[in-house]
Amino acid sequence: MTTQKFDNLINGEWVAGAKYAPNVNPSNLADVIGDYTQADAAQLDAAVAAARAAFPAWSTGNIQARHDALDKIGTEILARREELGTLLAREEGKTKPEGIGEVTRAGNIFKFFAGECLRLTGEVVPSVRSGVTVEITREPVGVIGLITPWNFPIAIPSWKIAPALAYGNCVVLKPADLVPGCAWALADIISRSGIPAGVFNLVMGRGSVIGDPLVNHPGIDAISFTGSQSVGARIAQQCAVNLKKVQLEMGGKNPQIILDDADLKQAVELSVQSAFFSTGQRCTASSRLIVTDGIYAQFVEAVKARMATLKIGDALAAGIDIGPVSSLSQLEQDLDYVAIGQKEGATLVAGGDRLKLATDGFYMQPALLTDTTAEMRINREEVFGPVASIIRVKGYEEALAESNNTPFGLSAGIATTSLKYAAHFKRHSQAGMVMVNLPTAGVDYHVPFGGRKGSSFGSREQGRYAQEFFTTVKTAYVGA
Ligand code: NAP
Repeated sequence: MTTQKFDNLINGEWVAGAKYAPNVNPSNLADVIGDYTQADAAQLDAAVAAARAAFPAWSTGNIQARHDALDKIGTEILARREELGTLLAREEGKTKPEGIGEVTRAGNIFKFFAGECLRLTGEVVPSVRSGVTVEITREPVGVIGLITPWNFPIAIPSWKIAPALAYGNCVVLKPADLVPGCAWALADIISRSGIPAGVFNLVMGRGSVIGDPLVNHPGIDAISFTGSQSVGARIAQQCAVNLKKVQLEMGGKNPQIILDDADLKQAVELSVQSAFFSTGQRCTASSRLIVTDGIYAQFVEAVKARMATLKIGDALAAGIDIGPVSSLSQLEQDLDYVAIGQKEGATLVAGGDRLKLATDGFYMQPALLTDTTAEMRINREEVFGPVASIIRVKGYEEALAESNNTPFGLSAGIATTSLKYAAHFKRHSQAGMVMVNLPTAGVDYHVPFGGRKGSSFGSREQGRYAQEFFTTVKTAYVGA
């Protein structure tokens, strides 16, 4: 059987690249979803040129038409959530219900930003000079390069594309090479939405081949990137040299504090959920469980017992809690970190092995390490897999200090029944998002998302805060 071929979208046309790469199902390596084309430098130039040509009309165009197109995209995504959620689970490896949830989020994001097309406001303020008025308005930035990771293959492209288009920008999207299927499906939906040719362009291919030239392209005005800290830091440097606006969302080493007074059942459930669901491949996953003395023994036993009930298997199978790791290199990294942790003195109390199941896939038993300390690599570096470590502390003050003892600052949680500690933690956690009695992973689509320290750089994504990045402010002075 021949595999279906999928091309780049450039100036409203589907265009084949010089070669194709297979998109393989991590639950079953014999299953090839399709062959996805790889863009070259000439195609990137064509995509940027198309976006630049489309910008004058799109950026000054009718906002009702913009609203209607984004709303139509959202409607189609939501109507096809089962089918697209299945594609997502098949290419990325999160379970089908998680895939459907992510697709639903993507549809809601487009609906939200359809509304934002109609809600952009400015200010008129009196001047300090008599007879003069000052108008402050927001205008589109220009042509934006979007670079996205593999772990949320439809939600992250959506939460960049939707605000970019809503505020009148044109887009060139380079999705993760590992999971081009959802990005292609999204491009297909956008291409039929009424959005003019060239406003949105898709170029698939490897980061080193097509991502790097996209960042450095003179026709690109700004870059919105989500991915690892190492690639993000490099992109920030390149954008600084070229004076481009840049927004980076990167990794996490998210702490989950469990205090003596926590509801044990709730604390166990939210910790296991955050650490291991979606195979631990969420930037907001809890990878450091910081537990106070009084609840420590009970908590560790209860987490181990809950982990023993987790069903790991084919992402498309019914009743599965956790699908495979997304790629061989990520699986090797996860297993390496379990070994590194043990070498540093941690005790592996559950999981940590590769699993052989009915189909050949990248399955791993979630791992729990105890006896870990803040200096260990396992507690300082992002693993990005189903691997969690426990840090034992004496009380709240030490727990807070440990939670902030990290180069990252994306999401942080506390499980407690104490209003005093919850309130103090909300104020003193050095994370961009703080959760009280909730998993560190799992956020709403209509409010700002982002972190501090090494997790984020630039203004926030999502909600109306997205306008900070996707618009530029103009101050106009009007005399009599
Ligand atoms: P990655 O390796 O940094 O890749 C991210 C994107 O950058 C991919 O599209 C990649 O292309 C591209 N890229 C690679 N090298 C590049 C270069 N030199 N120039 C331009 N683009 C380049 O990250 P990942 O492994 O896909 O994703 C996992 C990371 O993303 C984790 O660190 C996770 O925490 C982070 N993440 C953060 C958030 C957040 O909002 N904070 C959300 C999700 C994920 P290829 O695919 O072709 O390599």
